[in-house]
Amino acid sequence: MSGLDSLYQEVILDHSKRPVGKGEFSAPDGTFSASHHEFNPSCGDEITLSVAVSPETGKIEVLSWEGQGCSISMASASVLSQLVRDDSLTLEQAKERIDAFREMIQSRGAVEPDEELLGDAVALQGVSKFVMRVKCAMLAWVALEADFKQIEADLAAA
Ligand code: ZN
Repeated sequence: MSGLDSLYQEVILDHSKRPVGKGEFSAPDGTFSASHHEFNPSCGDEITLSVAVSPETGKIEVLSWEGQGCSISMASASVLSQLVRDDSLTLEQAKERIDAFREMIQSRGAVEPDEELLGDAVALQGVSKFVMRVKCAMLAWVALEADFKQIEADLAAA
């Protein structure tokens, strides 16, 4: 195992042990919120990820999730939460990060990820070589995309 691989292992282990953003969701007044449940039948991972967006700023005010599954799926939900929180992302910015993460994770190791854009999520780069685990890594990100779709529809109708 190379030094980088073992460092990445540590990041993943750390996030799965002490997950960021895991807990009950409550939407602040005046925000648009959505919640989606995703299930990965090939591994048994389950995640319900909720998000609240301010209609004025487009910023994600709250992101939290609950779920259970393998360490990759749990670590991935945690790094996503940390990314959204630390960079205080807007919905539009978060969508860019989701695209960048998907590109990395579906590249089978070919895409060198941008750490500025993806933060600790780059630690999941190695997962891209294991087709069976890609769904584990994508689960939380797909749930967030589904939340965004609903919020965008709600905002358009408001
Ligand atoms: Zn899994």
